[in-house]
Amino acid sequence: MSCLFCDIAAGKVKAKVVHQDDAVMAFRDINPQAPTHILVIPRRHITSLVDLTEADDALVGRLVRTARDLARQENLADRGFRVLFNAGDDAGYSVYHIHLHLVGGRQLGWPPG
Ligand code: AMP
Ligand code: ZN
Repeated sequence: MSCLFCDIAAGKVKAKVVHQDDAVMAFRDINPQAPTHILVIPRRHITSLVDLTEADDALVGRLVRTARDLARQENLADRGFRVLFNAGDDAGYSVYHIHLHLVGGRQLGWPPG
């Protein structure tokens, strides 16, 4: 089955890549909801947060730490930012390859819509 984010990880679909290493890739969201809106993904396909297993714990740590590093790089560490995973229909999950959103650069509302 084809997967958009697997294709981005493989370089088959272009994206504004801001970080890549052996396990993780990060690129700017095509429809940004804030001045900084970056998606952090594992290169390996995992369909959703719901599918994580204990074997993925280190990988999830790398996703979160990469988001933290990128927040620093985008000068958001002091002013604040948000990291989140959507999952399932109620959250509007739309691309079925797990991704962490890093959002910042404006005042963010809470609760989210
Ligand atoms: P979610 O609602 O958590 O599934 O978010 C999917 C995100 O992927 C949305 O914010 C989309 O704007 C973003 N997106 C979809 N296609 C692309 C793409 N080709 N490049 C970058 N971001 C994308
Ligand atoms: Zn995938």
